[in-house]
Amino acid sequence: MDPRHAILFEPVTIGPKTLRNRFYQVPHASGFGTIKPRTQAAFRAIKAEGGWGGVCVEYAPVSRDADEVPAVAANVWDDADARALALTVEAVHSHGALVGLELYHGGASSLNGESRSVRVAPTQLASEVRFASLAKEMTSADIAQVQQDWVEAAKRGRDVGFDIIYVYGAHGYLFSQFMSPVTNRRTDGYGGSVANRGRIWLETLEEVQAAVGGDCAVATRICVHGRDELPGIEIDETLELVKMADGLVDLWDLTVGSWPEDSGTSRYYPEGHQRPWTHRVREATAKPIVAVGRYSSPDLMAEVVKSGAVDLIGAARQAIADPFLPQKIAEGRLDEIRECTGSNVCILREEAFNHLGCVQNATAGEEFRRGWHPELFTRAANADQSVLIVGAGPAGMECAVVLGKRGFSAVHLAEAEAEIGGRLRWTRQLPTLGDWGRITDWRAVQLDKLPGVEVITGRRLSAADILDYGADIVVMATGSLWRGDGVQPGQVGRISGADSGLANVLTPEQVAAGKRPAGRKVIVYDTDGYYVGPGVAELLAGEGFSVTVVTPYPVLSPVSDETLEGDMLRAHVHRQGVSVQRGITITGIELDSVRGRDEYGDPWSAGCDGVVLVTQQASNDGLYQELTRDEGALARAGIQAVHLIGDAVAPRIISEAVFDGHRLAREIDRPDPGRPVPYLRETPDLRAPEDTRELPDLRASQDAIPG
Ligand code: ADP
Repeated sequence: MDPRHAILFEPVTIGPKTLRNRFYQVPHASGFGTIKPRTQAAFRAIKAEGGWGGVCVEYAPVSRDADEVPAVAANVWDDADARALALTVEAVHSHGALVGLELYHGGASSLNGESRSVRVAPTQLASEVRFASLAKEMTSADIAQVQQDWVEAAKRGRDVGFDIIYVYGAHGYLFSQFMSPVTNRRTDGYGGSVANRGRIWLETLEEVQAAVGGDCAVATRICVHGRDELPGIEIDETLELVKMADGLVDLWDLTVGSWPEDSGTSRYYPEGHQRPWTHRVREATAKPIVAVGRYSSPDLMAEVVKSGAVDLIGAARQAIADPFLPQKIAEGRLDEIRECTGSNVCILREEAFNHLGCVQNATAGEEFRRGWHPELFTRAANADQSVLIVGAGPAGMECAVVLGKRGFSAVHLAEAEAEIGGRLRWTRQLPTLGDWGRITDWRAVQLDKLPGVEVITGRRLSAADILDYGADIVVMATGSLWRGDGVQPGQVGRISGADSGLANVLTPEQVAAGKRPAGRKVIVYDTDGYYVGPGVAELLAGEGFSVTVVTPYPVLSPVSDETLEGDMLRAHVHRQGVSVQRGITITGIELDSVRGRDEYGDPWSAGCDGVVLVTQQASNDGLYQELTRDEGALARAGIQAVHLIGDAVAPRIISEAVFDGHRLAREIDRPDPGRPVPYLRETPDLRAPEDTRELPDLRASQDAIPG
């Protein structure tokens, strides 16, 4: 280990417990909660195995009255929930880490989709979560009930072995709602002064300490400063609250702003962007502090700890990207650290699909159900065969790395262009997207280290080249190309004029290759809805073009809302001088104009000198079709299998291309590698004691009043 990093491996005592080092996986959502207990346990345990000193599960609503359905949380409402979470406790403990339970109440932002309980809040104010549906202003009895629920949940957590129990008050949830004078307009003892606004929090901490304090460390997660998106939380008031609560807290877990800000993406926030606020908390406490910062550099981590501002390096996304980060630092294997790209695809996967995933670490969330370990690979039964991978985009690169790790000694990764990376070659050049290049960079380093893998660039292979190559197995990872004909979602047919050879119509690839519209006025037509449209628009605006993004959607880049970037992206693009027209479907392109219809179906048109069509991609699978059409030629060439992966199968977000490449390599020695091995599913277990009841006889249980 580099002695400069030794400080990161010092133990830290938090209340009655001691963390073995300063690496702490803060609570973060996964989609596993208590509904996929084995997935949860294996996902958290891998971090403990990789060396993290503390590992937490996600937000855990303290009662049915604050449920998060249809989102997934780590409910601790009854003993069945507790048993489900006990799997995680045991699994994390078996690798020597402490495990934390983030007890939580969302207040006005609870979803209560299952319980139909009324949401509660300090004051009855409109919620951003559900329009036309307000929360109840809490009575003192409601406050006492929430506190009692908290204590009961804490005891349940303690009883199944959690080491750290949270009183979660950050990210705009119930206690933040009380702290903010914007959302707390109360005139009783729970509103007004800092002491009053913090009272519910302090009382809860006191009760939780009294209930479980001797057995567990009590942590509290607190938003130290609201910034723009969480109004009313001010650092000076926070410091007052910290001083008031300090005797009740064993670990301070700090956040800044709302969730989108705290989990700020690399597009808009540098590593450690929270420091100006989080690093002031030391003024108010000598207790252990954990703060996040999307840190991936051990030097920076050591520097932050040495500064004295924090005791623990908190991580959610970096711990997902590399569960073995601590071990790699300890062993000085720094070039093997999979650095988080800060793209928030983990959050997109978790929020939109209730199953987290990661663009850097294809094994995240697959530990239990597919049995994938991020660092261990079995030697493939067919490792002595030679493999040709055509295309070094995310899918091809990942496939080559995993085949190399599985012991293949003759893998050739052939790429037409001068550099590997596929679509990332250009994506990483777009404004704000530089850190996405880490996907290529990590793989480039690993490919270089693998003796069985050779990377060949600048070689565009034809079907004849592939047949002649001498490979036993061929993997086609040739990606996708943007269509130039304007085929778009929900429309039958093309945009008229789009593919008639008009010089003023460009695809993103042509822009990437340096082509530019003739005049200054450009329309970027974006039906893709993610990063390419805004990226191209910002690039061209930066070069002096007058750019308008036209989109059929109600907002620019709706996918970015799922990565928490939507509001920032729209504000950012606006500040770069890009205009946006929403709700417009373009149906025709002329030399100097476009036409279509607006959201009401009325005609719409606009003048322009050029159009960039970010409408739809098409799989670049022609070569695959050509090869597989002639089985005789494949047999004569000695090619035993041709596989298709990544965008060449279907264009998707980058994490899915990486996953595809990884999966094929993990299963390449199965009888039918083209078809994924069925993964293990977790279904409600009808054999559990509480589920053995018969269905109730509703007729027998009602009073016999005919109605
Ligand atoms: P994915 O996301 O599925 O990995 P990309 O589009 O990012 O796909 O990458 C595909 C890569 O395949 C590109 O770098 C492209 O240059 C390369 N490629 C496409 N056709 C060939 C070919 N015939 N020979 C070699 N490389 C190719």
